[in-house]
Amino acid sequence: MNTAANLEELNLLSFNKKKLQDFFVSIEEEPFRALQVMKWIHQRGVSDFSEMTDLSKELRAKLEASCIIRAPEVVYEKTSQDGTKKWVVRVGSKDLIEMVLIPEKNRATLCVSSQVGCAVDCSFCATGKQGFSRNLNLDEIIGQVWVAANSFGVPRAPDSRNITNVVMMGMGEPLLNFEPVVDAMNLMMDDNAYGLSKRKVTLSTSGIVPKIKDLGKVTDAALTISLHAPNDELRNKLVPVNKKYPIKELIESVKGYVDGCSDKRVTTIEYILIEDVNDSLELAEELCELLKQLPCKINLIPFNPFPESKYKKPSGNRIKRFQNYLQEKGYVTTIRSTRGDDIMAACGQLVGKVNDKTRKIERAKNKQKIKSKTI
Ligand code: SAH
Ligand code: SF4
Repeated sequence: MNTAANLEELNLLSFNKKKLQDFFVSIEEEPFRALQVMKWIHQRGVSDFSEMTDLSKELRAKLEASCIIRAPEVVYEKTSQDGTKKWVVRVGSKDLIEMVLIPEKNRATLCVSSQVGCAVDCSFCATGKQGFSRNLNLDEIIGQVWVAANSFGVPRAPDSRNITNVVMMGMGEPLLNFEPVVDAMNLMMDDNAYGLSKRKVTLSTSGIVPKIKDLGKVTDAALTISLHAPNDELRNKLVPVNKKYPIKELIESVKGYVDGCSDKRVTTIEYILIEDVNDSLELAEELCELLKQLPCKINLIPFNPFPESKYKKPSGNRIKRFQNYLQEKGYVTTIRSTRGDDIMAACGQLVGKVNDKTRKIERAKNKQKIKSKTI
């Protein structure tokens, strides 16, 4: 009989491709069965083994008896006036995380969380302000894509493209939860699962340099750097992890990553614009100098306010002025339009809900960790 504990272990959403193949070998089945089941789970969104009609009845019964397919439970779901959809899902017994789907003309981008809270504690970020609770497991990361894709109806058509892009830009610093994040991105890019191209799966990082180097060894998905300042003095204040991995090292590691990709890449540099903090033309000039060495485009993100934040969004004129300067210097520069802010689904507004007590304790612990150079 299955106990709750071994059911937990055999949640097939928590299996990467290799683990799934090994599992089928361990129950004396051919490894290609893993690919059939992967397609049922990730392409079709099916969670009931009895619907997997290309498997024998015996195998279906065997799987039924020992495995489950269980995604995070949706506890709240809301659609913004502009069509942006936000889900709050429960992971484990008490933690809540958020994911957001942003539909545009020819694409729909899903913004996925990698951690409950975040230990990096950037001074402009609501997720950072709530502290760090824990890393998400593979089933909880890929489960977000599964839930969002299934919201269009199940079973999905095998070639349905309701989600065309995934960005690891929800709650958390993905490179501080390396393995599950890489496993999840590999499933997003696998033709037996979501089949997205490597340019359409993006990891965004605050700049965990050694992990950028490691990432280059296992994937060539798109990489976005949250830079936000052109010099260490200012970046140390905005993105505290910069004290450990300063800008020069960060740029070097990104160059290494891009050089290692099998095709020609342009890195996206994210730059939040905060009034009177990093939006002057002097800083724009410094930014241009710094980025000369890197093939990149720049995405300006007007600061999204949230309760308790001390910063302000610059006026439209100041934002435009900053953009014009960069464009005149030859940089492709876009301004990210704010989507879903009426439902608190915009960048940096994702907080899920972390128990207050845990929040305080974990935040104190994690500040300590960052100081003691464990990341
Ligand atoms: N931790 C990773 C990915 C999640 S944050 C990172 O920092 O890159 C995703 C994006 O949201 C980052 O570019 C981040 O800088 C931005 N962001 C965070 N808080 C924001 C805010 N208040 N307004 C606008 N963008 C914000
Ligand atoms: Fe963490 Fe990214 Fe927010 Fe910084 S911006 S606190 S790294 S989630």
